[in-house]
Amino acid sequence: LRARTTQYIFTRTYAMSASHTIPKLNDPSLFKEQCYVGGSWIDAKSKEKFEVHDPATGKLIGTCPEFNKEDTERAIQTAADAWPGFRKLTGRERARMLREWFQLMQDNADDIAALITWENGKPLSDSKGEVQYAASFFEWFSEEAPRSYGETIESSFSFNRVFTRKEPVGVCGLITPWNYPAAMITRKIGPALAAGCTVVAKSPGETPFTANALAELAHRAGIPKGVVNFVTAMKNTAEVGSTLTASPTVRKISFTGSTPVGKLLMKQSSDTLKKLSFELGGNAPFIVFDDADVDAAVTGAIASKFRSGGQTCVCANRIYVQKGIYDSFAQKFTEKVKAFKVGPGFSEGITHGPLIHERAIGKVEDHVRDAESKGAKITTGGQKLPDLGVNFYQPTVLTGMTTDMKIASEETFGPVAALFPFSTEAEVVKMANSVEVGLAGYFFSRDIHRIYRVAEALEFGMVGVNTGLISDVAAPFGGVKFSGFGREGSLHGIAEYQILKTVTMGGM
Ligand code: NAD
Repeated sequence: LRARTTQYIFTRTYAMSASHTIPKLNDPSLFKEQCYVGGSWIDAKSKEKFEVHDPATGKLIGTCPEFNKEDTERAIQTAADAWPGFRKLTGRERARMLREWFQLMQDNADDIAALITWENGKPLSDSKGEVQYAASFFEWFSEEAPRSYGETIESSFSFNRVFTRKEPVGVCGLITPWNYPAAMITRKIGPALAAGCTVVAKSPGETPFTANALAELAHRAGIPKGVVNFVTAMKNTAEVGSTLTASPTVRKISFTGSTPVGKLLMKQSSDTLKKLSFELGGNAPFIVFDDADVDAAVTGAIASKFRSGGQTCVCANRIYVQKGIYDSFAQKFTEKVKAFKVGPGFSEGITHGPLIHERAIGKVEDHVRDAESKGAKITTGGQKLPDLGVNFYQPTVLTGMTTDMKIASEETFGPVAALFPFSTEAEVVKMANSVEVGLAGYFFSRDIHRIYRVAEALEFGMVGVNTGLISDVAAPFGGVKFSGFGREGSLHGIAEYQILKTVTMGGM
């Protein structure tokens, strides 16, 4: 029955070579298996490498250097050496470089998208969307760079004059996850460079090749040597992290990833008192009130829940539907999910690719079986898809969810939609706020008073009202509670990479 209701696609559109499965890049020189440090492509001093595998097939994509403490310290020193020269450039000069990097991303968009699909697994059309979203951070911050002004301030004393300057914080350590291999990096590097900082970016071990392609384009864009440095590690990830956090030369850490790793990095950064911004885990509620446009809510919930196979930090994780419309919502929602086409990301017409690795599949299985054992009903999905490749899971809908099930409090990070019934506004707001994290929350309603009330009552950094899509370079992105602090994108994103210096001139 499941095989009939959800379509699974088996065809592959890319060719095999002797050792690798290679997508056809227009510019194969964008595929780099080294680290970009100080304007050169280098190996780890130990020559050690780690393997990166295609999440759809498990086949080897390539290898990357296994950087250790010494290699990372070298990258930090390179960034420190480049900083005095880079910070002296005017905002407009830095803007022109970011604009050129943006343009090169546009010119090479198909290749970057292919690399994303290859190592992350998401459908090629989604990867193309990610490239545009990622590039938008270079465009946006190229516009912010020349307009980051200080202030003149009326002093309390007639003999003083006071003004402020916004100055770059210095060398920044950037650590990003695999779920948006391009966008998570550009969202940090764009504002860092706009502010006049230099960076050491630790790209994710699962998806280093997209990051390397971006590094190659930085080189071609004329970003001065040492301003952007990319380091890679798999087994030595924690060592690279502790080197970045312990270094007094690194003045700022920006991290996107899980809450436990965020807490660890914060502890490690305390001895050197770094400026920090953390975008951590979410567990988004998605509330549908019975005064909502149900069809619009179904569309919004699909977009919010199943983007990137449910592997985004702002994905709906707990879908609360008011009892009066619960059954009709569940039925319409399930029909849409049954129409998904699952398969390798390069295949034509697929809507969903594999999950990133076996651990991700394990967590999804655990959450589904836990809910099932406590009385939830699976209306579609609920199984692995081993015939498609290594990390495929059926898009799944669970009804009859209760608060004792794991999904009520833990982030699934996979293609599982859990529908919880509720009775009153007060009850659902309490349930929505009951988790430790507070990244994104959503609700659908047509009652203007309720819209204000609930938007204000939800304890989340971002609230979507009558929409399932909230990511926008122009809008501040970030969380509260255990989802972290700091904001990316928008007018505010650049401030995370600046210090506000006050200059007081006396004797006037
Ligand atoms: P993770 O925390 O395990 O890894 C994230 C990154 O940190 C990776 O590059 C990883 O290599 C690195 N890392 C892991 N341990 C480290 C250490 N000790 N020192 C230095 N670096 C270390 O997270 P993940 O499982 O890869 O990603 C999924 C999580 O990220 C989810 O919880 C999700 O909600 C969160 N996330 C948040 C956002 C956001 O904007 N808030 C965006 C995407 C993902």
